[in-house]
Amino acid sequence: MSARDKGRADPLLERRARLLGPAYRLFYSRPLHIVKGEGTRLYDADGVEYLDAYNNVACVGHCHPRVVEALTRQAATLNTHTRYLGTGILDYAEQLLATFPPPLDQVMLTCSGSEANDLACRLACAATGASGFIVTGAAYHGVTATVAALSPSLGPGVALSRCARTVPAPSARWQASAEVGERFGASVREAIAALAADGIRPAALLVDTLFASDGLRPDPPGFLGPAVAAIRDAGGLFIADEVQAGFGRTGSEMWGFARHGLIPDLVTLGKPMGNGHPIAGVVGRSSVLAALAERTRYFNTFGGNPVSCAVGAAVLDVIRDEGLLANVLAVGASLAAGLRTLQARHQAIVDVRAAGLFAAVEIGAAPAGPSASERARGLVDALRDRRVLVGLSGPDDDVLKIRPPLVFTSADADILLSALDEALIEVA
Ligand code: PMP
Repeated sequence: MSARDKGRADPLLERRARLLGPAYRLFYSRPLHIVKGEGTRLYDADGVEYLDAYNNVACVGHCHPRVVEALTRQAATLNTHTRYLGTGILDYAEQLLATFPPPLDQVMLTCSGSEANDLACRLACAATGASGFIVTGAAYHGVTATVAALSPSLGPGVALSRCARTVPAPSARWQASAEVGERFGASVREAIAALAADGIRPAALLVDTLFASDGLRPDPPGFLGPAVAAIRDAGGLFIADEVQAGFGRTGSEMWGFARHGLIPDLVTLGKPMGNGHPIAGVVGRSSVLAALAERTRYFNTFGGNPVSCAVGAAVLDVIRDEGLLANVLAVGASLAAGLRTLQARHQAIVDVRAAGLFAAVEIGAAPAGPSASERARGLVDALRDRRVLVGLSGPDDDVLKIRPPLVFTSADADILLSALDEALIEVA
């Protein structure tokens, strides 16, 4: 048993606080010290194995040999930047763009999802000549000054941009499916009117197509249609933030926007794109990308370097060659069915929402007991004690976020479901 498990003061916690300062936060009431990963498993410093049902970044599995091999081969050959000619970035761009519908024909590479959203905002402002943005009430789009100010989930300590208006993400209380699209579209029209009242024209509607930080709102597929029509009628663009939904998370397609039958003007990519290596980017129509280029140049020292492109290409190869979309659909469906069975047995679960290998289990308050968020936090810790890793999400931190690597198997799903069953009994 580690120092952490015995509750002794941990020298790592002290060093971390001293060296990194107080902005960094840890998961779990007894934090984990992870030293190794393989497939869907993580291992702590004592060699204890955990089932990873949380980390979407390692989409093809932790330390996938093909990705590691591509990375080390290119790192041992050359790593420079995009101001020399090179074929790696072009081969990767072709391979990536082939996964998008044809009007989306160009890509600009960055190093993080935050940078991708920041660049998408600049592109949208340049293309429209406008400055307003519409985001959801618990949106998260990243850490740069611009996108942090478009991320209400960071809390009241980070001021929302003067040029931003929020709309509520669809709610579980909007009962009729048909109503969701109309209500969400109507809120976007109201936000456009609120911007206009302050003399601001909208540059874009920026949404995560799975609404992950809003507690996961995938259904009904297609509900984004009226909102996107509203922003386009007002001269704005639709930016699909695919940092969470992209690279096959939903299983039915590579991209979350496809579930809505829409083609965005700009798409931002990140997290799973490099299976842990920092590569991200913006995909868009050449006509939309042109406006910024008329004003200025784009150079990002590390964005699109040969090592990152080799890694990105290996990730796409593995997604294709291992048939991961089909795996996501099959395992995701059985996981969602299992979670709904648990919902029928445990009154703590008030809702289950899922798309592919992303599931949200919304927890209710205990009658005359802990709040929904305390209960959800207790469940996350109880699962960690059973060596299963999940996270928390939602505006009220009352949603279990289950978002494993895409190589999650049915056997992994069964382990998760029985651990959750036990954890629910423990916290009941
Ligand atoms: N957009 C969304 C929807 C995200 O979930 C995140 C990261 N959690 C980001 C953008 C920012 O990405 P990064 O942390 O790579 O900057």
